[in-house]
Amino acid sequence: RAKGTGKARCVVYSQRQSGPPEHDISLEAAMFQAVREGEFLLYYQPIVNSGTREIEGFETLMRWKHPTLGMVPPGRFIPIAETNGLINLLGAWALKSACVQLKHFQEVAKRPLYISVNISPRQFRNDKFLDVLDDALAFSGLPGEQLVLEITEGTLMIDPVHAEMILSKMAERKARIAIDDFGTGYSSLSYLKRFPISVLKIDRTFIRDLPGSDKDGAICNAVLDLAKHLSLSVVAEGVETEDQLQYVEKGGCQYVQGFLTGRPMAAHTALAALKERTYAALMPEHQANEEPR
Ligand code: C2E
Ligand code: MG
Ligand code: MG
Ligand code: MG
Repeated sequence: RAKGTGKARCVVYSQRQSGPPEHDISLEAAMFQAVREGEFLLYYQPIVNSGTREIEGFETLMRWKHPTLGMVPPGRFIPIAETNGLINLLGAWALKSACVQLKHFQEVAKRPLYISVNISPRQFRNDKFLDVLDDALAFSGLPGEQLVLEITEGTLMIDPVHAEMILSKMAERKARIAIDDFGTGYSSLSYLKRFPISVLKIDRTFIRDLPGSDKDGAICNAVLDLAKHLSLSVVAEGVETEDQLQYVEKGGCQYVQGFLTGRPMAAHTALAALKERTYAALMPEHQANEEPR
């Protein structure tokens, strides 16, 4: 037990195998408080058609607006919520809110859009998960085909038999599955054959050094080729430059998501972007409403 780094803060260095090695007890306690106080919110990042530059959908990204710490990034609090189980509560709230928000976005845009929601391994394996999904769809009235759930390769492989059951139930509801951070997790491609997957999201570590890096270029083009033959959609994550967008588009990548075409933003800013139809609406005037880099 290591006592505070100055103030009333107690940091415990956990020996457990699971969860973050440094478990911040004060942050964990504050999270329960934050749930009661409603300090969690959702940001929306546009997923854009690389050819037309139109917004096709949004990924929801959770934020925690702490009264004194400011914005706590999900990389900080999701692992804690995953360890203590709070992710089930937060995740259910995020899924339902995202579906409701998308209904509203569509009314403004007057065209179909989709919403992409991150599902953590623990949520996916929770025995109430299908109930949570059905509740979100029923409450919002959103058709299942407008919902994409983002999971990682690891989530599928922890318990493939269970995953197969969940995915078949999702298919009944017409909800789609995206593999998030594709290429960074499980090293076998056999799961692409086994599971009904619709979307691959190329991890941003493969996009970052484009178009200069031959290796990253080869990996991206191989993924795009694979996706084409398997009839999967591809989203390139972390597209920050016009050169990167053009590179992946030439390789046949239909969708991009990144700071170039819109940062994660509050719902009202996303609505403003939709009214203008394309991401061009976000630059440069509206950019003040987006998250700083
Ligand atoms: P992710 O699902 O892979 O989300 C994409 C991350 O990349 C987001 O980080 C986003 O802000 C960031 N990003 C987007 N475009 C760019 C870009 O052009 N350049 C760079 N450098 N970064 C970009 P964020 O919001 O910090 O989220 C981190 C991770 O936290 C997410 O990775 C996801 O795994 C998790 N997460 C976020 N919200 C939720 C949630 O509601 N539920 C669950 N279970 N996990 C969440
Ligand atoms: Mg994601
Ligand atoms: Mg990702
Ligand atoms: Mg990621």
